[in-house]
Amino acid sequence: MDALKERADEQVTRHGDALVEASHRMHANPELGFNEHGAHDVLADLLESAGLAVTRGAYGLETAFEARAGSGGPTVAVLCEYDALPGIGHACGHNIIGAAGAGAGIAAASLAAELNGTVVVLGTPGEEGMGGKVHLAEAGAFEGVDAALMVHPAGLDLARFGAIAIQQLEVTYHGKAAHAAAAPHVGRNALDAAVLGYNNVAALRQHIRPDERIHGIFTEAGDAPNVVPARAAATWYVRSATVRGLQALKERVLRCLQAGADAAGCTVEHHWLDPAYADMVDNEVLVDLYRANAARSGRDLIEPTSLATVVGSTDMGNISHIVPSIHPMIAVSPPNVAIHTSEFASYAGGEAGDRAVLDGARSLASTVVDLWARPELVEAAAAEFAAARASGRATGRATV
Ligand SMILES: [Zn+2]
Ligand SMILES: [Zn+2]
Repeated sequence: MDALKERADEQVTRHGDALVEASHRMHANPELGFNEHGAHDVLADLLESAGLAVTRGAYGLETAFEARAGSGGPTVAVLCEYDALPGIGHACGHNIIGAAGAGAGIAAASLAAELNGTVVVLGTPGEEGMGGKVHLAEAGAFEGVDAALMVHPAGLDLARFGAIAIQQLEVTYHGKAAHAAAAPHVGRNALDAAVLGYNNVAALRQHIRPDERIHGIFTEAGDAPNVVPARAAATWYVRSATVRGLQALKERVLRCLQAGADAAGCTVEHHWLDPAYADMVDNEVLVDLYRANAARSGRDLIEPTSLATVVGSTDMGNISHIVPSIHPMIAVSPPNVAIHTSEFASYAGGEAGDRAVLDGARSLASTVVDLWARPELVEAAAAEFAAARASGRATGRATV
């Protein structure tokens, strides 16, 4: 087994310059979700030149791709993200995910025929809110896949991401315009409705679970102080530890917002944005394999604690409800630098980011090798997943 993994390592080393260059090119040209044409081409070209069979614009998404090698045996998907954030570029470091995933795919591909396995490198666009992976799942991208692997940069080497369920909510309040000085009694103030709704949620936040989050902004708040706002709007993120918890919390949030409208004599309409993101159901068989493989690169993965963790949401959560999956984190910055900051973006394009590309590729590729060489591990991962399904922990659906 060690000899096989060393051969996979050698492939990562051999393609190392190209992988790092791909990471840098994506980093220098950050593209928002579903507009990642440059990143799509960089990764598809790289995989194609390494001999994988590449489908561009896969599964009906222009900036998705699929690269395959091998046939039969266990099918392992390695996922590449590559979208950036508005204004702060690759502050989530998805350039590293893309390059590491491609490197893992290339390294695994070199052993696919010998080990009788199949590797599928999936380019999954639009992670930052668009739910690219949910669209891919609905189009069949995960059919026949035995395990789905990816690695995400962070400030720590973590065995798992504290990925909780999330749904975005858009709310619009309707009141009645009036001259704010001449005839305020005629008006119904939609901004008041929005502010009261906000304050209701602020009170609610004292009494939600510690692993739940609700945060919102006002997106419309009137046009002039001397006109009673007839319209106001807000966007909210509602997050809970599980999909089931999310449904209950969503109801509580809506009641808060409705009460604000009632108090101000206004009406409110709301719209839940799809797709919602599910919580992450980590497959411990796969986590253990990845942990051992990360240690080969000198990275000792830690379990998240209340002080050392990264909490957020990802569309990989949705995939983890349909296929045994992992979402470990790989350190590229000091622990006190949070993802989604400009500071993190500079680490993602720096030397530590480059090391993460190569270490991540090696650890993922070795995990693929484990699954191919020891199919009983695939069975163990499947049995664990079946138990998660039976208990309701995994829903069996990519859509929430
Ligand atoms: Zn991310
Ligand atoms: Zn992000």
